[in-house]
Amino acid sequence: MADRSFLEWPFFDDRHRALADQADQWAAENLRSIDHGDIDNACIHLVRELGKSGFLNLTAVDPEAGNPSLDVRSLCILRETLARHDGLADFAFAMQGLGTGAISLFGSEAQKRGWLPRTRAGQAISAFALSEPQSGSDVANIALAARRKGGDFVLDGEKTWISNGGIADFYTVFARTGEGEGAKGLSAFIVPAATAGLSIAERIEVVAPHPLARLSFDNCRIPESSLIGEAGKGFAIAMAVLDVFRSTVGAAALGFARRALDESLKRVCERDLFGAPLFDLQMVQGHIADMALDIDAAALLVYRAAWLKDMGAKRVSREAAMAKLFATDQAQSVIDKAVQLHGGDGVRKGSVVESLYREIRALRIYEGASDVQKVIIARQTMASLTGG
Ligand SMILES: Cc1cc2nc3c(=O)[nH]c(=O)nc-3n(C[C@H](O)[C@H](O)[C@H](O)COP(=O)(O)OP(=O)(O)OC[C@H]3O[C@@H](n4cnc5c(N)ncnc54)[C@H](O)[C@@H]3O)c2cc1C
Repeated sequence: MADRSFLEWPFFDDRHRALADQADQWAAENLRSIDHGDIDNACIHLVRELGKSGFLNLTAVDPEAGNPSLDVRSLCILRETLARHDGLADFAFAMQGLGTGAISLFGSEAQKRGWLPRTRAGQAISAFALSEPQSGSDVANIALAARRKGGDFVLDGEKTWISNGGIADFYTVFARTGEGEGAKGLSAFIVPAATAGLSIAERIEVVAPHPLARLSFDNCRIPESSLIGEAGKGFAIAMAVLDVFRSTVGAAALGFARRALDESLKRVCERDLFGAPLFDLQMVQGHIADMALDIDAAALLVYRAAWLKDMGAKRVSREAAMAKLFATDQAQSVIDKAVQLHGGDGVRKGSVVESLYREIRALRIYEGASDVQKVIIARQTMASLTGG
């Protein structure tokens, strides 16, 4: 049973504690028997089940509610809980939020009504298409062109590393519309998967399998009503979405780390070495202490960033960057210690800690690599000093 004492911290309300209980129970009852053999079908099945459970309502605003907003602490609690039980379930949940984030935050009423009731119900799958072969970390370098033609936009170019690529019903696509240089000339669009000219150029396999693809846009025509927010504001829209969802990546890392600690505690109690449980060795206790400390420190940073956002902070770039950087890097370290404590079983294919070891790695790369988070933190720290 994972440590739940953090739920007593002042960041949370009773509804968060109730949500954590409900999510944990649902995950225990529903995720054990998920077959990951066919990753696309497993992911579609998970989205449908998460939709039926009601948890996907947290991932996007309700278009029928007055002045709706996303509750970042709830998103984090869900991601942490799902990641502790099943990495693919966390992925399926998270992508429904990331893929619709631009619509929730900047979409028109028609765009919200058109897509969000379906993504919240698990009946439509969304994706966030920002990265390109030449612009992963360098977002301002996006080349995919969106040119005005008649009343429409015509998209030409490529996106890559797109999660849910191949199973998504629509993509939130960031493209160059050219209102200004670099970051000032980008816009965000909704592109349904069935649009003529949009195709899957390549399916990409990664160490922890999930649906991922390179997309090709060839003379892909979409109506002007597909534009999310204002033309030329695409970069700001992407950054605002990441400002919400970056802390949740830290929360997923936290879930993986908590599972690694749970598995390790079980292991060091059950495994006898030199005539006593492994736990009796003080160096082992040192590992356990380091793991527990890293987890609590990561949780403090994750839930600080989430709480600040929920309290109405306009931007939490520094806090979200700290949360993502620390939680993902330290989860890698916690999981590595768990593998070590499991000995040969730690690298046995199919063991829990072996899969955690694969699951955690990409989190230090996507939604801004660890190095990029350091740049954000350094710049924000300098700006706060100089009043910039
Ligand atoms: C599993 C997975 C899922 C993904 N899902 C999505 C998705 O759904 N949508 C999407 O748009 N993208 C997605 N991505 C893409 C991801 O966001 C990019 O891979 C990431 O931004 C890094 O870009 P890149 O791969 O081009 O690496 P590069 O930009 O070439 O960077 C390589 C490395 O250079 C270093 N680096 C980069 N910039 C700096 C800097 N400023 N200072 C110091 N060092 C630096 C970092 O170590 C970085 O890892 C996904 C990637 C993976 C692996």
